[in-house]
Amino acid sequence: MKMDRILPFAKTLLTKAIKPGEIVVDATLGNGHDTVFLAKLVGEHGRVYGFDVQQEAINATQKRLTDHHLTDRVTIFHAGHEQVSVKIPIEEHGKITGAIFNLGYLPGGDKNIVTHSETTIVAIEQLLEIMSPEGIIVLVIYHGHEQGAVERDDLIQYCQKLDQKTAHVLQYQFINQQNKPPFIIAIEKR
Ligand code: SAM
Repeated sequence: MKMDRILPFAKTLLTKAIKPGEIVVDATLGNGHDTVFLAKLVGEHGRVYGFDVQQEAINATQKRLTDHHLTDRVTIFHAGHEQVSVKIPIEEHGKITGAIFNLGYLPGGDKNIVTHSETTIVAIEQLLEIMSPEGIIVLVIYHGHEQGAVERDDLIQYCQKLDQKTAHVLQYQFINQQNKPPFIIAIEKR
């Protein structure tokens, strides 16, 4: 297939938005795959701020970063992403150029611990305040589980109402696939 699949498309968007030396956010650390990707994009003079509510995810991410020799460019918070503007130092506000939310549950972990639209939306609102113009937020939405379907509906409703003078909002989704594969909503701050 020539068209980008979902996760490669998320990476394409982030690669366009983020340059070496910049400040970015991994809003859901999970097993740390996105954290490593972002840490490589920002390079040795950039910084990734990462959030997760689960110790298991923090441990998995720290291990992956250690294996890739990338720990020095990542700050990890054992906290919900709804605290993004409180946790990220004020001097970084206005400089953040990219953020990713890989929503749902930790693969291989407790499927009862999932992201929720209420807190996801609070985090998006805060990011839209503290990101730089043309900063991109990528949401990867997994809607095959019960709470995921609720989160999908709430996020679509919220994003459709974002003022087009504030942000460009894109939905990227294969619409003829079975088993509710994930899809992307991307928000570019104007
Ligand atoms: N990006 C990850 C990777 O590359 O492996 C996958 C993330 S996983 C699909 C979703 C993660 O979101 C879980 O680890 C879960 O603990 C975390 N999570 C749930 N609620 C959260 C919140 N309010 N703030 C931050 N992380 C949260």
